[in-house]
Amino acid sequence: MFTLSHESQLTDLLQANQDWTKATRQEHPDLFPTNGRGQQPHTLFIACSDSRVNENCLGVLPGEVFTWRSVANICKPDDLTTLSTLEFAVDCLHVNKIVLCGHTDCGGVATCINGKLNDLHENNCNHLAHYLQELEDTRVSYQDEIAASQDPYRLLTIRNAQRQYVNVKSNPTVQRALKEGRLQVHAVLYNVGTGLLEKLDSTE
Ligand SMILES: [Zn+2]
Repeated sequence: MFTLSHESQLTDLLQANQDWTKATRQEHPDLFPTNGRGQQPHTLFIACSDSRVNENCLGVLPGEVFTWRSVANICKPDDLTTLSTLEFAVDCLHVNKIVLCGHTDCGGVATCINGKLNDLHENNCNHLAHYLQELEDTRVSYQDEIAASQDPYRLLTIRNAQRQYVNVKSNPTVQRALKEGRLQVHAVLYNVGTGLLEKLDSTE
């Protein structure tokens, strides 16, 4: 089913690339020449780095979507990557939509729900543990609701996506664009088992 594997070498990757460009050129002859002249993406897609999640769930082609993916789709307000990505996408590329996409079966969410954050230190993943503190803080904020939930995992996944959505909406660059009516911000949940998106929140 997959094109490449753990056993794949660079020659395999380069061959796969050749095959991909050939197939893409046949299906979309104008795509690469158009992309070669610059990008005008309509959407900034923020999602988890999970291998099963990306902007292709929108059925888009290269050139349509500016993407930023991070572990557990965390975009803290004071993070330099958050700030610079939003500035570039909104004020330089002039996207008119930001999609903040959480997803089911997220490893970051599972780590916090299962109380495994400290295990990361034992596995030499100190930075990851530090990074996931944002998600742990969300879990603590909603611990009563999570404890009463039939599906605590899904609940924390949604609360995390909503928290990052609020982070994005609160960003000064985004605030300005929202006030000027040139931007929409949406929060969605991607189901890795079906490929379907579900609406969580929206400025519309
Ligand atoms: Zn994830």
